[in-house]
Amino acid sequence: MALPGHKLGQTENLTELENLNEETLLAELKARYDRDVIYTYVGEILVAVNPFKMIEGIYDVSKSVVYANMGDRSAEPPHLFAVADGAFQAMVNTAPGPTANQVCVISGESGAGKTESAKLFMKHIIYLSTKTSSNAEGNAAHGLEEKIIQLNPLLEAFGNAQTLMNDNSSRFGKFVQLRFNASHHIEGALMSDYLLEKSRVVNQGDGERNFHVFYLFFAGLTDADRERYSLSDPEEHRYINGNDVALGDISSGKLGPMYKELAECIRIVGFTDQQMNNLWALLAGILHTGDIEFGGDEEAYLVSADDVVAKCTTNLGIVQDVLVEALTSSINITRGESIVRKYKPYEAEDARDAMAKSLYGKAFRWIVNQVNKLLGPKTKRMNPTDKNIGILDIFGFECFDVNSFEQLLINLANERLQQFFNDHIFKMELDEYAKEGVDGSKITYEDNTALLDLFMTRPTGLLALCDEEALFPKGSDKSMVEKFHSNLHGKKGYEKPRGNDPKFTIHHYAGPVEYQAEGFIDKNRDTLPIDVVGALRLSDNDLVRELFEGDTEDAAAAKKGKGKRDAANAKKNLRKSMKKAAKAQAKAKKTTVGADFKDSLIKLMAEMSNASPHFIRCIKPNHQKAPGMFEDEMVTKQLRYTGMLETTRIRKEGYAFRPTFGDFLHRYKMLGFPFSANPPATAASCTQVLDKAGITGWQVGKTKVFLRYFHIDELNEKFLPFP
Ligand code: ADP
Ligand code: MG
Repeated sequence: MALPGHKLGQTENLTELENLNEETLLAELKARYDRDVIYTYVGEILVAVNPFKMIEGIYDVSKSVVYANMGDRSAEPPHLFAVADGAFQAMVNTAPGPTANQVCVISGESGAGKTESAKLFMKHIIYLSTKTSSNAEGNAAHGLEEKIIQLNPLLEAFGNAQTLMNDNSSRFGKFVQLRFNASHHIEGALMSDYLLEKSRVVNQGDGERNFHVFYLFFAGLTDADRERYSLSDPEEHRYINGNDVALGDISSGKLGPMYKELAECIRIVGFTDQQMNNLWALLAGILHTGDIEFGGDEEAYLVSADDVVAKCTTNLGIVQDVLVEALTSSINITRGESIVRKYKPYEAEDARDAMAKSLYGKAFRWIVNQVNKLLGPKTKRMNPTDKNIGILDIFGFECFDVNSFEQLLINLANERLQQFFNDHIFKMELDEYAKEGVDGSKITYEDNTALLDLFMTRPTGLLALCDEEALFPKGSDKSMVEKFHSNLHGKKGYEKPRGNDPKFTIHHYAGPVEYQAEGFIDKNRDTLPIDVVGALRLSDNDLVRELFEGDTEDAAAAKKGKGKRDAANAKKNLRKSMKKAAKAQAKAKKTTVGADFKDSLIKLMAEMSNASPHFIRCIKPNHQKAPGMFEDEMVTKQLRYTGMLETTRIRKEGYAFRPTFGDFLHRYKMLGFPFSANPPATAASCTQVLDKAGITGWQVGKTKVFLRYFHIDELNEKFLPFP
């Protein structure tokens, strides 16, 4: 308890502070951080401040042992392992059902330590579950647990990249669920991914890099591989040559061991050689795709030498003429007649980059699916006796100088998670009141349901309007914004800017964000020209063909003209393939990135509502990614973005300070009893003190006094000497 003799930085659970607010929260975290204490509880929530260095011993096996089967969490200093243990024990000790399932929600900005925390959480859960498995079943499962941990380097190679914010930044959101059987052994792991940042494949900001795997792959090439994939010098490839330091890392041999680790992990997880060869060829094909150049004023034509294209098409397993045709023109087939429109050079470049992005995005999804096949539970549905523990590692709230469609979706997710968080915190408050027999009916809190409606309502919410415009062939960003204005102007949380720029502002829980609508429609549609789809469906790389749902026989037929460079034949094949692709697309439900995201968010929330939540808030203490630096302003902003300040507000609305009877009397008995009296720690004694002090509006529970935040000042004033 923090009351008597409170020392800064010594309180392990900050809700015990008599005055929890923005300043005290910050000061306590800072004082602890200065002593290399990175974990602190705020009520049930764990705050983790990124140390940017290894703190000796904090994740040692001895710690795993200490934070196992703890019972009382406060028996040991705050730790991530304690949260994992709490979740695991809660699962073990609860009968199957929504309360037994657990979910750990990890949030924070890029570089705050979410992914490291997620890995540590998972590691400890696996430790706890294997610790108990001494029987045969447990041993058999052991391999699975190892594989689940082995997954990380694979997913990080394909999904992470170096950014200005974080040297190993996850460029996708992920939710992993560990499924347990009745004896609490792991049966499998299932993963969902969200919004991979595909645009990074074709260009990266200054000082940033492409996805790790491109550099690792290059660094790991043997001479035979170089020949096979036609790769010799990384500097030649536009998609990766923008970063000299990264190129230096490839040639210095620094990445060699990391490639080995990746290759080993791929083997352990269980991909076949054939699958991996196809995947590497696909990656090489992407690199070569980036080197295809176009020229021309009105009509695009190929500028690159034939062999540049050949390197691309050989790796992707498609016919050269087919690809060039598909990248430089679009064919519109109506009523048996085909009308060819030649692309402008920029359109050809867009088609090329769209192809690279699509190949990468689909390959990533394929890896995730593959991993789920290999490590997932045998049955998709849970048995009635099964339980699960989920871990959500997802991008935090974003507000940049320019905010686009990606930020809109990311912030929507954060808005929804914030609602989940608030509901939970509020519910915990009410539970505590109920437990103590205190009336909580007057406590309210401001929720963000109206803002979520602004996004989700159909047909006039933001997402629905985005879709309406995206699915309309002549839709434009400008007319979309006009629809926003006319439908949403005047609604809470929406702000129409001055002037006519295609912009709008949303007042999120974390603060206002101005969105630039330019590019929304294209990003929401995210389509690949059907001509390019048609070309890729004819691939003889099994993986590429599978990703674009092509047909083996069509692909074989397309190869017949290959040797002869038979352009006419290539065109014929492409048209046939396009027709099939168009038919398949027409049959498939037309969807958008926004609608997909909304669906997956709804699914995610359904899973989360079916579990007991645990929250970890990660804080990045400085922009330099440096140890020992704690920047107040930056941390305060994150405390707001992660909803921590909101938590203190919810407390403030209610009874912010709840000392036990004993603690209360220890401090304030003088206000109600003679100096030498030693009143018993009871509700009656506390009531006597409060009455004598003339305080109103408090409540006394079964073991604690419930005080409003201003009561503390009122009580302290009574101690002042007489005038
Ligand atoms: P996020 O996923 O939030 O973007 P990461 O988990 O990738 O951030 O962490 C960024 C970097 O910070 C890591 O690569 C690591 O160097 C450092 N880091 C994060 N958590 C810890 C920790 N608990 N101990 C030491 N270093 C950490
Ligand atoms: Mg991450």
